[in-house]
Amino acid sequence: MADKLYLIKEGEISLKGGNRNLFEKQLRHNIKNKLRPYHSDITKQKGRLYARISEEAPDELVRKALSTTSGITGFARAYSAGKDIEAIKEKAKEILPFSGFPSGGTFRITVKREDKSFPMNSHEVACELADTVFQLYPDMIVDLKNPDHTLTCEIRTGVYLYTDEEKGESGLPYATAGRGLLLLSGGIDSPVAGWMMAKRGMKLDAVYFHAYPYTSELALEKVKKLASIIAPYLGGLRLFVVPFTDGQVHIRDHGYEEEATLMFRAAMMQTAERIAKSCEAKAIVTGEALSQVASQTLDAMSFTDSMTELLVLRPLVGMDKEEITDKARKIGSYETSILPYEDCCVVFSPKHPLTHPVKEVVRKHFEELDMGSIIDEAVRKTEVCSFDPMGREINE
Ligand code: ATP
Ligand code: MG
Repeated sequence: MADKLYLIKEGEISLKGGNRNLFEKQLRHNIKNKLRPYHSDITKQKGRLYARISEEAPDELVRKALSTTSGITGFARAYSAGKDIEAIKEKAKEILPFSGFPSGGTFRITVKREDKSFPMNSHEVACELADTVFQLYPDMIVDLKNPDHTLTCEIRTGVYLYTDEEKGESGLPYATAGRGLLLLSGGIDSPVAGWMMAKRGMKLDAVYFHAYPYTSELALEKVKKLASIIAPYLGGLRLFVVPFTDGQVHIRDHGYEEEATLMFRAAMMQTAERIAKSCEAKAIVTGEALSQVASQTLDAMSFTDSMTELLVLRPLVGMDKEEITDKARKIGSYETSILPYEDCCVVFSPKHPLTHPVKEVVRKHFEELDMGSIIDEAVRKTEVCSFDPMGREINE
């Protein structure tokens, strides 16, 4: 079967100096990885990538692959045309009926004439193509500023036509900025935190602390579902499920009630650090935002930071809940996050949590809890679920 062509625009990568090749190579790899098992071939020409993808790959799958891959600012299904105006108009007539144009409204023609030897200038080509649109859809109106539909014609070594470019994720390709470990709970925040770091180029795995039977199997299923939703943005991920019931119970029975959440967070940091080191992650990523809950005050966060030597990144720290919720809706995690199954923090939460811990005091209390062997055991019993770059669970 023939291949279909997609034109892909790179964003921030094009500003990279000496490292640009590395970023582009990774981006190409990230895209191809998502389109497996379909054949794809990605070439580059002046700030554009051209992906030739097997005709057998469903359009929806290609759209999902490209719209979730960071480093892409926009993409469109493109068609090559012969390099003269009649051939260009013919191709336009052929593709417009399968675009958004038949629904009517306003349009513009955008012509990019890279190849200055082409005998007509951009304006002349645009007028010819506008005529073609009017022939097919006489009721449409030109609107250069805010059109409903755009037909773009790029005249380079070859000629490419495309309509209604879709927006991409922007940012940088994941796996260009080192590895991190995301603390993924069932809430709204942490999936968004992971998505944000992946958009800055981080490659992430995730860890979930499960306190069965205090938290149900459904809570775990929910976190797995969230992992599968964010997986395409992260280029796939492993989810480490840490059984932490013994740790929670130990903290409840032997610690000070008002410090329970802080102790749990300290234990999470130490456990996460162990897992992070085993997967060469250099940072721990959380969904905390300043003052959102008792354990997210400056004092509390400064305490949890002190429990690990790894960098702790909190990409949502300055965002309010509404902004975070908007992002969760955008990436499609919101509906799953608001399902009711409680996560373990809630079950073991103290009624009056300590909001301004004195670091030295709570550190000492944490040491007194002597959780070393419980953490060892939790790490030993940790199970892994893997999700591929399109979000499918991999059954090994
Ligand atoms: P979220 O909406 O992400 O659940 P939250 O507002 O409920 O966050 P907390 O429960 O205090 O806040 O958790 C803060 C962060 O700690 C979470 O964003 C997540 O990164 C991490 N976290 C909390 N509980 C767990 C858990 N059971 N497993 C893994 N990480 C967790
Ligand atoms: Mg939570």
